[in-house]
Amino acid sequence: MSEPFVPDHPSSITHHNVAFALWITGLPASGKSTIVSALRPQLEARGLTVEVLESDEVRRVLTPTPTYSQVERDLFYRALAFTGQRLVAHGITVLFDATATRQAYRDYARGVIPRFAEVAIDCPLEVCMQRDRKGTYKRGQRGESATVPGLQVPYEKPVSAELAIDTTVLQPDVAARQILDFVSTRFF
Ligand code: ADP
Repeated sequence: MSEPFVPDHPSSITHHNVAFALWITGLPASGKSTIVSALRPQLEARGLTVEVLESDEVRRVLTPTPTYSQVERDLFYRALAFTGQRLVAHGITVLFDATATRQAYRDYARGVIPRFAEVAIDCPLEVCMQRDRKGTYKRGQRGESATVPGLQVPYEKPVSAELAIDTTVLQPDVAARQILDFVSTRFF
């Protein structure tokens, strides 16, 4: 009988086959970044290499003076999905931390990334406007911005999210744990 196969270098086992992408979507100030910050180390503790694609951060590179026009958003979200798709293909788990106002943007990512799920961060507009950590809504109300999702630009809530998180009820660490439980069942 042949010896059981034991890899020479167990640490060289890669996670190419377990990488996946989550699109964390919700209105500005709904709690996306806060939850992603709690989730990321928990995924890394399970041996995954994780990249967060946060829309404001990527915009600083792709569209340093953003207009937030629909044409620009169309291009931006295609580029974001493409970047995520390449990372996942090479074994890196991607957390999209981005509102992505239109369902079509998230559907496009779903179409190009085989292991993909959408997480809806639910929070009423009025609560988001009270939180408003980055001042997004205040800029909209002062007339300094005419493109705020939920205020002047429609936000299309997910129609097919695998998971919904209500941040008026769940604390960020509990929300992260729920997402972790979901991905453990779905992708590991
Ligand atoms: P987003 O990334 O969606 O714009 P943030 O993560 O910046 O939103 O969160 C906006 C604010 O909401 C932060 O100040 C955060 O601390 C607060 N917040 C309050 N409760 C929660 C919760 N349960 N989950 C996530 N964020 C929350």
